[in-house]
Amino acid sequence: MDHVVTLNAGSSSLKFGLFATKAGEPCVICTGLVDRIGSAEAHISARLSGGETLFDEVSDSIRDHDIALDQVLTLLQQEFPEARIAAVGHRIVHGGPDNDRPVLLTPDSLRSLESLAPFAPLHQPYNLAGAYAAMKRFPDAAQVACFDTAFHRTQSWVNDTFALPGEYYDMGVRRYGFHGLSYDYIAGHLQQTAPDLHAGRVVVAHLGNGASMCAIKDGRSVGSTMGFSPLDGLPMGTRSGQIDPGVLLYLLEQKGMEAAEVSDLLYRKSGLLGLSGLSNDMRALEKAGTTEAGNAIAYFTYRIRREMGSLSAALGGLDALVFTGGIGENSALVRQQACEEMGWLGIDLNSDANQSNATTISSDMSRVQVMVIPTNEELVIARAALNVMS
Ligand code: AMP
Repeated sequence: MDHVVTLNAGSSSLKFGLFATKAGEPCVICTGLVDRIGSAEAHISARLSGGETLFDEVSDSIRDHDIALDQVLTLLQQEFPEARIAAVGHRIVHGGPDNDRPVLLTPDSLRSLESLAPFAPLHQPYNLAGAYAAMKRFPDAAQVACFDTAFHRTQSWVNDTFALPGEYYDMGVRRYGFHGLSYDYIAGHLQQTAPDLHAGRVVVAHLGNGASMCAIKDGRSVGSTMGFSPLDGLPMGTRSGQIDPGVLLYLLEQKGMEAAEVSDLLYRKSGLLGLSGLSNDMRALEKAGTTEAGNAIAYFTYRIRREMGSLSAALGGLDALVFTGGIGENSALVRQQACEEMGWLGIDLNSDANQSNATTISSDMSRVQVMVIPTNEELVIARAALNVMS
């Protein structure tokens, strides 16, 4: 039987999944994570689809993504010797202005994706390192790139552009939008389970360590909070989110900061971590109970409410609000604060349903249906890999 491996390579982590195929559909066998790649305490773990631990080890020899992938595949082959890997699906953060669907990776397409690395320097090179490593290991498998930007290619020019002279748009300085695999999953899920909502106006809040929101009309993206880079929009675990560009000019020109320092500040030291001075992790902030932790959560949820209003304007109204991602799926506090005083938009939460992470958390009085839907980016990648292969 053909199997599919999914890979999602970050700067120091590698998420993976192994899927069997049944009647042309991927069926998850296990998912796992290697984190702290490059450190003496890299951690490699995987769970079966039922939640049982498959392996869970610390290793001091995972120096790079090649080695991480090699160890993952060796462990998977030990556990599932019968698996025949026919396709490998890769999460690639940037597909550029033209890729609106998954593509088969070839030496030519890889070169063109490498040329997009300056647009996403902290993500694209690692994504592609995973692709090169998988090609070496499985030269006969189809290698398929699934782009975080592809779902947003339906956005209109006014959503896509900045108010700069046209030559900047032509050189690629535009709003691309990200988290597209997650939004694709949610849109597909709504199509199956709530076709009326899918045909309507939906805002999805993908709230995880990275966080963004997307306006979806009739299943298509019409606006999103992330723009040229995954820095824009909501504050995140360690990223600032939207910031007045004048602040950056001030830091560079008046405070003498180097570009690399500003990048480090915006990507790694800001967001929930910067505001709380404590942690980028929502669970830790909820537990801490300090004023700074409370302020960080308040800023996060205030920005969600503002973006909800802005995206609802882009949609011309709102029929459903969906929470997803680690925070969106699990934090009743964040969902409650994000929906506070949003009655003007037709949102009214059922507090018991919210506390229990129910699928529908709005009250019967609510004009807008508010839902919690766990995302599944790996499934989107596995499906795409099978589709492109066939
Ligand atoms: P993700 O990047 O989607 O894996 O989400 C990671 C974020 O989800 C971190 O900030 C976690 O603290 C947060 N998270 C996970 N579980 C919970 C929970 N039960 N309550 C609050 N936040 C959570």
